[in-house]
Amino acid sequence: MIKENPSALIRSLNDRFSGRPVVEILRFFLAEFKGEICFSTSLGAEDQVITHLIAGIDKDTPVITLDTGRMFQETYDLLDITQKRYKLNIQVYFPDKEAVEKMVNQKGINLFFESIENRKLCCHIRKIDPLKRALEKYDIWISGLRREQSITRENLELVEWDTLHRKIKISPLINWKYDDVWSFIHEHDIPYNPLHDKGYPSIGCRPCTRAVQPGEDIRAGRWWWELPELKECGLHKR
Ligand code: SF4
Repeated sequence: MIKENPSALIRSLNDRFSGRPVVEILRFFLAEFKGEICFSTSLGAEDQVITHLIAGIDKDTPVITLDTGRMFQETYDLLDITQKRYKLNIQVYFPDKEAVEKMVNQKGINLFFESIENRKLCCHIRKIDPLKRALEKYDIWISGLRREQSITRENLELVEWDTLHRKIKISPLINWKYDDVWSFIHEHDIPYNPLHDKGYPSIGCRPCTRAVQPGEDIRAGRWWWELPELKECGLHKR
């Protein structure tokens, strides 16, 4: 297992693959790091693109997703549709039930609206801890992040050292624009969350996601009561 930041390897992978087509990037990483690499999906539009591409390259690739317990029914339905269509090895990870019970019983069922500290605690227990457990046996993980998504992601590199999980993280769609994602989805008839058609460009947990108005930032509907530079759940801390 990789324990320390392999900065020379990361630099050479970025030099070799930055700006290359996403299929070429995925083909290389899935073959070169088979058994050490997984894909983490939240079933967002970008993740559905990657799921579609992975299914066409190597169906044995481990795919992980989190059920926070507070998701939209539309997201659960999409998970079911995606599993049936692509027949991938999608593993669902849940939060620790004792940690959730303690948090909810001490701070309330809707604690996340009361303070940033509470919101971060909830994201930690329902997302960060389960993702950490899900990633344990891998050295590399694939994410659907794009630079354009928010100010917290504009300096993203294709290959990065994920200091939180102590893994290499690759984001093959970093240079894609919003329209690129949607053109690809429609062109390939990829299943997607119907909430996207109802004004939800970015979908997380139900209580922490709202629709956005035309012209609003695509992440404006996530934790809308917080400042933009604080709006990450911590899964992609950089
Ligand atoms: Fe909790 Fe909201 Fe974070 Fe989901 S997005 S884990 S409900 S604070």
